[in-house]
Amino acid sequence: APLFAICGRPNVGKSTLFNRLTGTRRSIVGDEPGITRDRIYGEVDWDGRVLRIVDTGGVIPDDEALIPSEIFRQAQVALEEAEAIVMVVDGRSEIAAPDLELSRLLIRSGKPIFLAVNKMDTEKIAPQAENFRTLGFKEVFPISAEHGLGVGDLLDAVSAAMPATEPEEA
Ligand code: GDP
Repeated sequence: APLFAICGRPNVGKSTLFNRLTGTRRSIVGDEPGITRDRIYGEVDWDGRVLRIVDTGGVIPDDEALIPSEIFRQAQVALEEAEAIVMVVDGRSEIAAPDLELSRLLIRSGKPIFLAVNKMDTEKIAPQAENFRTLGFKEVFPISAEHGLGVGDLLDAVSAAMPATEPEEA
């Protein structure tokens, strides 16, 4: 099944989104010994097919100075393995330097990249997501990972950009 990745800096709501999409259909993968939660894989049924999801946000270094490089390392892995990327930002905070650098890296890849502006918990504040257009995306998706608002529109767009899966054997 096609795979899409969820990227973004810590605390923007990646794992909340991942958990909402996958429910209990997930598994933890550690890359190196001693790391218990690196990337987490899951599945969601959408639009009559299965999409695989990876949450890249597992390891947050204790040393804050190392966080940007860890975000980029995870993004590089995501770009290698995933067909599409959802970059998540916190709609209630200012655009941070790592958001800018990450969006550049992702857009440059030429892969289908979607910007999810999270924590837009009501229809009333959802238009604020437009402020994040300056990150260079043609389209932004206001979502509330916690309440589910906008998540369907995001998945529709991601699903449409993913390669079609082979039909099941009759
Ligand atoms: P991650 O580090 O990017 O995986 O972020 P988490 O999923 O752990 O979420 C970070 C914080 O943001 C937690 O306190 C969540 O409860 C909160 N959060 C996540 N999604 C939403 C949302 O849609 N609305 C609001 N208001 N808070 C959210």
